[in-house]
Amino acid sequence: MSAGSSDPAPLGAGPTAGFCPRCGSALASRPPTACASCGYQLYVNARPTASLIVVDDAGRFLALRRAIDPMAGLWEVPGGFCDGFEHPVDAAVREGREELGVEVQITGFIGMYVGTYEFQHEFLPVLDCFYFATLDASAIRLDPAEATDLTWFDLADPPKMAFSTMDSALVDAARLRALVPESLPSGK
Ligand SMILES: [Zn+2]
Repeated sequence: MSAGSSDPAPLGAGPTAGFCPRCGSALASRPPTACASCGYQLYVNARPTASLIVVDDAGRFLALRRAIDPMAGLWEVPGGFCDGFEHPVDAAVREGREELGVEVQITGFIGMYVGTYEFQHEFLPVLDCFYFATLDASAIRLDPAEATDLTWFDLADPPKMAFSTMDSALVDAARLRALVPESLPSGK
């Protein structure tokens, strides 16, 4: 690079990706763009995730304290990224099994929210899908690699969560539950 030039194009697969993933050439502009060398068209889309809002009979929701970055130490609801072609509802059930050690029953869909996830020094767009779920709370066994603590917060008065999409989903969950409580079984 000559003196005074801008920073080198960044590596990566997110909105700031600076190299073609097919031929490795530097891109003239950030995605969406086409590689001038091979013609590969590079788009960056929000990656889907699935999360569980588990509400008990007292109107409280299950929260976990994150063990890992980003946002380690903050409260979250259970969830994670969809694998490959996995449907978000299947990912929600799988994440429940992995993070809580229990089989969850999905009882309703809350909504989808576009957020930001910091991963490998990139800020990636994510499409966070939230589901109501029930489970046998006495059977929960946390995965210590994922969460260090568990608690139940009042759905009507949630704390600030690790991700803003969780804040939005909890507001909508409380509203939906107030609208149609009989269709959303809450806990056992
Ligand atoms: Zn290329």
